[in-house]
Amino acid sequence: MATHDTLQRFTFDNCHVRGELVGLKQSLADMFQRQTYPEPVNGLLGELLVAAALLSATVKIEGILSLQVQTDGPVRLLVAETTHDGKLKGIARLDEDKDLSEEHLLGQKGQLIITIEPNQGRRYQGIVALEEGSITKSVEAYFRQSEQLDTHLWISCENGMAAGLFLQELPELGEIQETIEADDDAWNRLNQLAHTLRSDELLHLSNEDILYRLYHEEKVRVYEGQPLQFSCSCSKERLSVALTQIGYAECQDIIDEQKKIRADCQFCGQHYSFTQSDVNGLFPLESAKNGKGLH
Ligand SMILES: [Zn+2]
Repeated sequence: MATHDTLQRFTFDNCHVRGELVGLKQSLADMFQRQTYPEPVNGLLGELLVAAALLSATVKIEGILSLQVQTDGPVRLLVAETTHDGKLKGIARLDEDKDLSEEHLLGQKGQLIITIEPNQGRRYQGIVALEEGSITKSVEAYFRQSEQLDTHLWISCENGMAAGLFLQELPELGEIQETIEADDDAWNRLNQLAHTLRSDELLHLSNEDILYRLYHEEKVRVYEGQPLQFSCSCSKERLSVALTQIGYAECQDIIDEQKKIRADCQFCGQHYSFTQSDVNGLFPLESAKNGKGLH
């Protein structure tokens, strides 16, 4: 397949187009070991993770990029998150009342939300309607509408593998020097060639073979691949943020009833528990007032 668990960037010396290849195998296996879904849902989540990895290479920040698909179909919610250093995770939420054998798992209506959270700086969010129940078409629409960049994605998923190819036409400013001869047809030509790549080739050929197969007549410049892996950055501290949102009264009720608040990370299943003294620490004023402060 496209080289396993790697994000590979490439550019063309003869035109203003950038490309990427992503292949996921072990990272998907690691994720699906912790959460199980019916097979078609695995495919959709794999597709969204590939899209997130492809998009992460287009933003120049240190932080988190996430894609969220919300729909009125049997698959209610899909979330894929990736960090600048190649950590991936995702979840799916299903509508228990709906039949997964329905043709349109993502329903008739939905939206794709793209969130970029830099470690430093302001969070950015973009929203597009889910186009034709397709993740790739929606990502393409996002780039067209929000960034005015012509973009194409091809993503294939099968048997625990997922792979993607990304092409984007860049504005003719900056990065590439003016010594490039005008090649007005390049964008169309590169896309037409990419269209000839079969789904099984994208899944099963190495990156080198894919690029040779498509672009051996072009001047392709390939950059060092970035490893990708399933990884969850959850911590007790992060989960306690969720508790502060629930509020003191409800947290204290659970402690009174069950002695502990148990919370599991929805991405990796890691168990966390919070005791009375944790709750006191989270709500020092309220707990002191309530006589549950430190003894
Ligand atoms: Zn976790």
